[in-house]
Amino acid sequence: MPTDIRVDDIVQMRKTHACGGDRWRVYRVGADIGLRCLTCDRRILLPRARFERGVRRVVTDVEES
Ligand SMILES: [Zn+2]
Repeated sequence: MPTDIRVDDIVQMRKTHACGGDRWRVYRVGADIGLRCLTCDRRILLPRARFERGVRRVVTDVEES
């Protein structure tokens, strides 16, 4: 799993958000990873270990079609 996460990376998570979206923008990197849902704009904080288990892939630089 990718662990070299940076602020502004876009990640796709295994589990979809309550709003149906599965893509998040990273807004904070530290002991916790801060994610903002691209679909509904809600922010969450995940402990890094949980983030690494839940992330499917980093989709930064891939344009939404
Ligand atoms: Zn959402």
